[in-house]
Amino acid sequence: MPDCIFCKIAAGEIPATVVYEDDEILAFEDIHPVAPVHILLIPRRHFASLDEAGENNGPLLGRILLAAARIAREKGIASRGYRVLTNCNADGGQEVFHIHFHLLGGRRLRTLG
Ligand code: AMP
Ligand code: ZN
Repeated sequence: MPDCIFCKIAAGEIPATVVYEDDEILAFEDIHPVAPVHILLIPRRHFASLDEAGENNGPLLGRILLAAARIAREKGIASRGYRVLTNCNADGGQEVFHIHFHLLGGRRLRTLG
């Protein structure tokens, strides 16, 4: 996707502070962190949101969640706790339309509402 900022990050065309990568997944620090640990996890291959995920994306989505758990342990926030979430479409607050998961931790997070 030519005008997708996260595709550009995945291609190395826009800088990011990468904390984990493999052939399918990239994890990097959010540019406007809202918690001491705020990392975004994306599939390298573009799809817009969870609403566009198909059955075939199940293993990939599972790997992203497990990568988030691993990063949380590496960052030392796992035992105190953290949150992994994806915003989907307008009411979900999605602003970048390349699916991504936020890993948030390092402080007490408010309940959702
Ligand atoms: P969302 O509302 O779930 O679409 O969140 C998009 C997130 O992407 C926000 O938390 C932004 O701060 C973050 N973001 C946008 N551009 C960049 C970038 N170039 N590098 C890192 N994070 C970004
Ligand atoms: Zn993209």
